[in-house]
Amino acid sequence: MICPKCKKDNSVKNGHHHGKQRYKCRECRCQFTQEQPRGKNIKTKHWAILLYVNGLSFRAIAKLVGVSHKAVYDWVRTFSLATYEKPTPQGEIVVELDELWHFLKFKKTSSGSGKPTAAPPSNSLTENAKTKTVKP
Ligand SMILES: [Zn+2]
Repeated sequence: MICPKCKKDNSVKNGHHHGKQRYKCRECRCQFTQEQPRGKNIKTKHWAILLYVNGLSFRAIAKLVGVSHKAVYDWVRTFSLATYEKPTPQGEIVVELDELWHFLKFKKTSSGSGKPTAAPPSNSLTENAKTKTVKP
């Protein structure tokens, strides 16, 4: 049994702890029990990512693999953050404000709080892009 502390394979059995075999390292004299590694193995995670890339939903993959859809989402997100760079929009994006512009133009400024009633959404997909307003 390999010691988790010093990583040497020089340990002996040393009783039981909570029903599990306990070992004692002869090198650093620490005691440890054999623990199952948490989570799914890397092959299962790669299989789930491959299924996602081919169009399956998080919930469908979760049913196939036997985990929660949040776990599948976390695997895909971790993989994509480690592998790919977020694309940044190039140039300007033109936004037309047809009816909204007329609404804001003729709106009474004395009513309400007097603050602007429309603003670009802060969580938009193009938040990195410059916006250019075109009056109709
Ligand atoms: Zn050790």
